[in-house]
Amino acid sequence: MPEISVMRNSQFSSHGSSSPLHQDSREHDDESQVVAWSKESVLGRSSTSDVVVLCWMAPRESDRRALEIATFMGSSVRFLSLSAAVLKGGTPPRFIFPRCACLIVEAETLAKIAQEMPAGVSGLPGALELVEHVFVYGFQTTASHNAILQALSSNGLVGARALSGDATLHVAVDQTEWCFQFSGLAVGSADPARDRSFVEGDASGEIATLIRVGEQPFFVCGKNGRSKFFFLASGELADLDENVTRHCSGLKWFCGLVPLMMFLRGALKERVWHNDHPRACFIIDDPLLRRRHGFLEYKRLLNSLSRQTFSVCVAFIPWNYRRSNKKVAQLFLSNPKVAFLCVHGCDHTGAEFEARDTELLRGKAQLALDRMRKHQQHFGIPFDEVMVFPQGLFSVEALPALKAAGYLAAVNTELSPSATSQCLSLRDLLDVAVTRFADFPVFGRHYPNDLAEFAFDLFLGKPALAVEHHGYFRDGHDALESFIQRLNALDSRIEWGSLGTICSHACLTRRSENGDVYVHFYTDRFHLKNTSEQDQRYILQPSQRSGETSLRVSVDGSEWSCERENEGPGVFLSLKPGQSADIKVVSEDSQPGVPWKPTMTHSLGVWMRRVLCEVRDNYVDTSRILSRIVSDVRPLVSRVWNRDGNATDSPTGASRSRSLRTSPLYEG
Ligand SMILES: [Zn+2]
Repeated sequence: MPEISVMRNSQFSSHGSSSPLHQDSREHDDESQVVAWSKESVLGRSSTSDVVVLCWMAPRESDRRALEIATFMGSSVRFLSLSAAVLKGGTPPRFIFPRCACLIVEAETLAKIAQEMPAGVSGLPGALELVEHVFVYGFQTTASHNAILQALSSNGLVGARALSGDATLHVAVDQTEWCFQFSGLAVGSADPARDRSFVEGDASGEIATLIRVGEQPFFVCGKNGRSKFFFLASGELADLDENVTRHCSGLKWFCGLVPLMMFLRGALKERVWHNDHPRACFIIDDPLLRRRHGFLEYKRLLNSLSRQTFSVCVAFIPWNYRRSNKKVAQLFLSNPKVAFLCVHGCDHTGAEFEARDTELLRGKAQLALDRMRKHQQHFGIPFDEVMVFPQGLFSVEALPALKAAGYLAAVNTELSPSATSQCLSLRDLLDVAVTRFADFPVFGRHYPNDLAEFAFDLFLGKPALAVEHHGYFRDGHDALESFIQRLNALDSRIEWGSLGTICSHACLTRRSENGDVYVHFYTDRFHLKNTSEQDQRYILQPSQRSGETSLRVSVDGSEWSCERENEGPGVFLSLKPGQSADIKVVSEDSQPGVPWKPTMTHSLGVWMRRVLCEVRDNYVDTSRILSRIVSDVRPLVSRVWNRDGNATDSPTGASRSRSLRTSPLYEG
């Protein structure tokens, strides 16, 4: 067992109120009535503010949103409110404005400040000279905002104007230190009601456009004195507490969210939450391990795996555990680092994990694992204890059922339970995994239609998980190989692996001022390796445990002390270079359930359904004539099919063939 040293909370340096920024604000509280609110980062414990949100008089809704986004990123952030009295009090501006790494301010706040400063707009660059990075947003097409743009960009930009024509957003290809995985991508459209574009001035050569809307600058950076300025032509920042609907992409909030996140990530680097080990996997739902399943032929798939760098996971229906072909199983066994299995339902009947009956769900979760283990015994192929829900449907109750049976995680196209009134917030959607329900992680995945979805996931530190069905291979493997090539180009560090490896390594890290590394992890079985070249102290924080005062944790099999940290229980350990540790969070409710025993009638129904699905995949979908006939009788068959309560699949993207989309027998 590797030697891992334990540390106590007291060994970590405490900063408390000794931060320079807090001193700054106190110094001026008395003499100049500077009013400061301070909020320590929910996720961070360092109290030196990396980020200041500058407000006029008192924080407004837009200021609160900026603070929430900076906090979500793990930075230490506070408000600083200015007033006319402060600005006219005779204190030199450089003592009024804070010394900090990043300052976020709305254009209208700067307009009000400029109005009250003796030097007016021209005094702004000097007043902000102790700020390393300044982010200004919310530009309107007004003279005062145009004057601010001109003064801070040294005439690189001269104004903002309403959007007209092409509103597509294009991210620069040559600014990777700010644009990260989004570099070179088109990322949807700006909203003409909310967003603007900038007008370039004579000195436009001095600025760099990070994002364009159509042909016009939208997010721009430039240097002025010692400060680097970032200008965003979007009028509104995203509200992390906004409820999101099902089937909603985070890209919808791109304009009000990602430029600010790019700014913070680029400026603060390791000090904010990030993931240095991006991982990916391509998931194929449903197929049997036979020579051919519909359009999928395993030999051809393995040829693709030899031509491109990627991994494949078959979401395997446990009901099929006795039906694999030994030669195909051998193909998996010969490629143990690129071909994997995970669990896809139990019987794969319509919405089977959307049930609300806890005992039934626990029994089905257990039966699925038992079948997969029998499959492993018989065919030798290991599997990951990761559930992909059939048709993407699951209830809130399904997640504790999986947890009790010992599953590592769920991976699903849809992140929120289908049968609940509880909505996810944008904050949930942006996290590496949703752990709101029973502390059990649900990781997201996408159809390979829009590369920006995968760039967004990687940018947020999530794994890049793609999903398709056999129909994707209708025209061969060119689409797959092209997608893999483009995905790999997003980030040269991508490591391909199994869903088990991906989920058990999923984490965000950030480095505190004293060099300690905070690790936020998502699964109850977590693997951590020190990939640096020096000894490293870690503070591990399990996701969604803030309500708990203590946890039972083991490290490499030995019980480990878990201490109360500012933000919840924390595990403190130190690793030597190259050393790794297996962390296990022990759940009290993790007990194997009693496998569910299907009735004869149910078994017959499942058998009929599986046979029909295989007829569809192998004969109907692969034959144009049969496809057309089925399309014609679809209304009739649908009525019969839906009478049995069988759900059809959730939206699956444009790549699915028309015959598949319209097939009455189709299920996800
Ligand atoms: Zn399926």
